[in-house]
Amino acid sequence: MPKDIDRLKKILAVLRKTYPEADCALDHKTPFQLLIATILSAQCTDQRVNLVTPVLFKKYPAAEDLAKAPLEDVESIIRSTGFYHSKALSLVTTSRLLVETFGGEVPRVMKDLLTLRGVARKTANVVLGTSYGIAEGVVVDTHVTRLSNRLGFTRQKDPVKIERDLMAIVPKEDWIWISHAFITHGRQVCKAINPQCPACPLEKLCPKRGV
Ligand code: SF4
Repeated sequence: MPKDIDRLKKILAVLRKTYPEADCALDHKTPFQLLIATILSAQCTDQRVNLVTPVLFKKYPAAEDLAKAPLEDVESIIRSTGFYHSKALSLVTTSRLLVETFGGEVPRVMKDLLTLRGVARKTANVVLGTSYGIAEGVVVDTHVTRLSNRLGFTRQKDPVKIERDLMAIVPKEDWIWISHAFITHGRQVCKAINPQCPACPLEKLCPKRGV
């Protein structure tokens, strides 16, 4: 537990006040669609994914549909999200596994989700938290990694270790929300290059202000 736990608690309070409604930015209607959108979001912006998924979900709305999709067709639809060969294979393979093993539904258990191709803890946490309201862990993406380090919640770079540190400090009832708050703050204010420190509500609490 860090010595400056009071400072970290104050940071959480400021974030809660600033981003009370922070939520997932990936457009979706079902847990399956969120799972697919999250797999597509690897190394890609949510904005770009949201341009691609309406076309994909119109043609293949559920696991049963995407499980039977020709790989080349999926590749051509998702091409602009990058790594499209591997992502298309993950989408179709995962959909098949959902149909064959989980009755076409997205499982609600971390260990089951981790059996799906293209699904690591980050994606599993997104689906469990956003679709099912299950706080199994904390989503750690590039924004959460950057902010957790700048604000002093962790000194780790490995996502699993960062998640462990966040889970030790942040109350469990905030695990789902905190990642959305960090991601929103990272996109709008604490950007990777040129963070907007003078405009940041966390400036007085942040050891990296002005860096
Ligand atoms: S003060 Fe600067 S470095 Fe710290 S959280 Fe705010 S924008 Fe990021």
